[in-house]
Amino acid sequence: MKLTPYWWENAPLYQQLDKELDDNLLPSHCEVLIIGSGYTGLQAALQTARSGLDTVVVDAKDLGIGCSTRNGGQVSNNIKPDFDYLAKKHGEQKAYDLIQEGFRSQQYLNDFITSEQLDCDWYKSGRYIGAHNPAAYRAMEHEAAKPIDRRKAYPIELVTQAEQGQHIQTDFYHGGLFYPHVYSVNPAKYHSGLLQKVQLAGARLIAHCRVNQIGRTGVAGDLSSQKRFRVQTALGEITANKVIIATNGYTEGLSSWHQRRVISIGSYIIATEPMAAERLAELLPTQEMICDSRKLIFYYRKCPEGKRIIFGGRVSLTETDPEKCTPLLQKELGKIFPSMMTHPVTHSWEGFIAYSFDHMPHIGEDNGLHYAMGYCGSGVGLSSYFGMRVGQQAAGLAEGATALDNLAFPTRPLYYGNPWFLAPSLRFYQWRDRLPIA
Ligand SMILES: Cc1cc2nc3c(=O)[nH]c(=O)nc-3n(C[C@H](O)[C@H](O)[C@H](O)COP(=O)(O)OP(=O)(O)OC[C@H]3O[C@@H](n4cnc5c(N)ncnc54)[C@H](O)[C@@H]3O)c2cc1C
Repeated sequence: MKLTPYWWENAPLYQQLDKELDDNLLPSHCEVLIIGSGYTGLQAALQTARSGLDTVVVDAKDLGIGCSTRNGGQVSNNIKPDFDYLAKKHGEQKAYDLIQEGFRSQQYLNDFITSEQLDCDWYKSGRYIGAHNPAAYRAMEHEAAKPIDRRKAYPIELVTQAEQGQHIQTDFYHGGLFYPHVYSVNPAKYHSGLLQKVQLAGARLIAHCRVNQIGRTGVAGDLSSQKRFRVQTALGEITANKVIIATNGYTEGLSSWHQRRVISIGSYIIATEPMAAERLAELLPTQEMICDSRKLIFYYRKCPEGKRIIFGGRVSLTETDPEKCTPLLQKELGKIFPSMMTHPVTHSWEGFIAYSFDHMPHIGEDNGLHYAMGYCGSGVGLSSYFGMRVGQQAAGLAEGATALDNLAFPTRPLYYGNPWFLAPSLRFYQWRDRLPIA
């Protein structure tokens, strides 16, 4: 079994890139320095480089080694909190504007992949959400009955347990909801195609260049002399007019302000050994994305070639290594499809997502540092879109404005980046998921 993402088999990190990538020459100055080479960082770089700004992207490790080449490839359009919650907090108009940004993120990614002709198995797959108990199904009935209006802007289809076989052959779920507007992507192929566009746009991409400290040029206390950033990296010092932080779930001590605002959580995922497409089609008759109504959800799908299942979720209370999670994920897969209980696994890996305390993504500027992060596990579309926007903001382009600008980015007292509350919270959710409540 390999402890690397299955996706890297078709799109290894560095694929089809020219030699310049490996040169790792850090210039002494650039106009825009971007920290992190996932979707956020690369989409930002595309904007700044195409605006004619001298752009450098650095990553602590291999380019794209974070979540952006490790995820499940399910692309929805949702900002996590619902309309009613957001309306209570921000008023109806603002709630509507915030939710629209989620819709724009999916539209943006669809337009981007299509117009840039990226080869990444992008298609509209739809997503089936299985009800894990009868109460969850009743809540779905209620959700499906809501009118299509500002609060619920897209159609969803209620699926009874008797009809469920069109989506998934299992007795595990009590019916579910089908979301036709969800897309699917091969995450590493998308990242690889995006990387090539960034390179073609003229940005410099530098791997194994961890940023250790961000300071200012000029004289301490004299703001007018401190216009530039002075950044210390593993490969030396660089000054930059603008800096964008695009580190999401891998945000560590680099900026304590950001570290205090995101909760890094591991998500674990396996790929099964290939099987005959006909046999897999008996379990999953379509190419739909699947997840369920549990608080600790499991998300899964067929691989684009239709011969394996990619199955992910959170099975341990504390962070652990993917090897230890493999039998636990296999057991969960076996509960849904008993015939898969002993089916071999070929790949097992993990990645770190970033949760925020208000379950919202965040984009903005703090102390002159631009950032976009906190996608709460649904970041393929959101990081692409907000990465693009934060790049426009750093380039001073008016179209970079979003409804999320200046939204307070909350932290909690006594939280400094170590999520000590995670294990008890996960234990509570595990217990709750076993109760007969929605
Ligand atoms: C297992 C898994 C499954 C997921 N499934 C889905 C899904 O199906 N659908 C969905 O929408 N989302 C999913 N996500 C979430 C999604 O992948 C992320 O939200 C998205 O990729 C975030 O992109 P990013 O560019 O912001 O961060 P990342 O791609 O994580 O990139 C951050 C980069 O910052 C670098 N970095 C950190 N610190 C430094 C430093 N000091 N100096 C230099 N570089 C640094 C890291 O090395 C890393 O490469 C999943 C995530 C995981 C882990």
